[in-house]
Amino acid sequence: MKLCDLHTHTTASDGSDSPEELIRLSRETGLSAVSITDHDTTAGLARGAEAAGELGVEFIPGIELSVAFPQGNMHLLGYFIDENSPALKEVLIRVQSARAERNPRILDRLNELGLPISMEELEEMAQGGQIGRPHIARIMVEKGFVKSVGQAFDKYLKKGGPAYAPKSILGPADAINTVRKSGGIPVLAHPFSLMTRDGRELEDIILDLKSQGLMGMECWYSEHDEHFTALCLDICRRNRLVATGGSDYHGKAKPYIHLGTGKGNLRIPYSCVEALKAARDAL
Ligand code: AMP
Ligand code: ZN
Ligand code: FE
Ligand code: FE
Repeated sequence: MKLCDLHTHTTASDGSDSPEELIRLSRETGLSAVSITDHDTTAGLARGAEAAGELGVEFIPGIELSVAFPQGNMHLLGYFIDENSPALKEVLIRVQSARAERNPRILDRLNELGLPISMEELEEMAQGGQIGRPHIARIMVEKGFVKSVGQAFDKYLKKGGPAYAPKSILGPADAINTVRKSGGIPVLAHPFSLMTRDGRELEDIILDLKSQGLMGMECWYSEHDEHFTALCLDICRRNRLVATGGSDYHGKAKPYIHLGTGKGNLRIPYSCVEALKAARDAL
């Protein structure tokens, strides 16, 4: 069976593998196709595409946009986006400056809590990539402030935590439109993170997003159990949405998540890629 992984991060955001390393690993893992979906940036796509061309791995340009939503955490994946689209570029400049403005606020809060981290230390950790909370969490572990990245989020950095600062300035409609305007397919990432009570509530949110242009949902995902995956696949089938899947690989930044296989038993069928291409060709 041909397999793929349509959700990965590189050093262009908070992953630890360079785009080239990620593509090499995709080939070693035997994946037929891979997408790089860095947080709010396309900076890794050109290098990923070039490496994929050399190694004979099919490459799908992607992005993961942070979305402002009252409930849980909403992320929107965009596949086959054109990174040179003026609409996308304009939005990314705005989103990236909101992130740049947020980082010192998080550091200020940590400082007030007696956990000092400097902007220089943060920039050193991010190595020129787009800075995210996982970079801050890794410094907190290195400095012995917390035992693990997970603990840094649980105690300080999670939404509503004492060192949290919001960043998302894009609402769902804005995010979906941005992906569509750049020729991409908008797909809701890891729906479990919306923290819905049941399938009915999830489907209501999905239907609302679909009315705003959503075209797919990530059903196969490292944190989804078999039951939740089946629920998502059923929602996709009944509402004519493209079902996709990805591990959300971050390399050493999330060592328990493996490319392609997630926590061990993830298998994402290549048919996801065919369905995405069919959706793109029908646009
Ligand atoms: P940010 O871009 O700053 O909003 O951070 C988002 C990143 O933080 C994503 O890669 C998430 O997977 C990661 N993240 C969110 N919550 C946790 C957590 N509890 N433990 C580890 N990583 C997390
Ligand atoms: Zn991330
Ligand atoms: Fe995400
Ligand atoms: Fe992700």
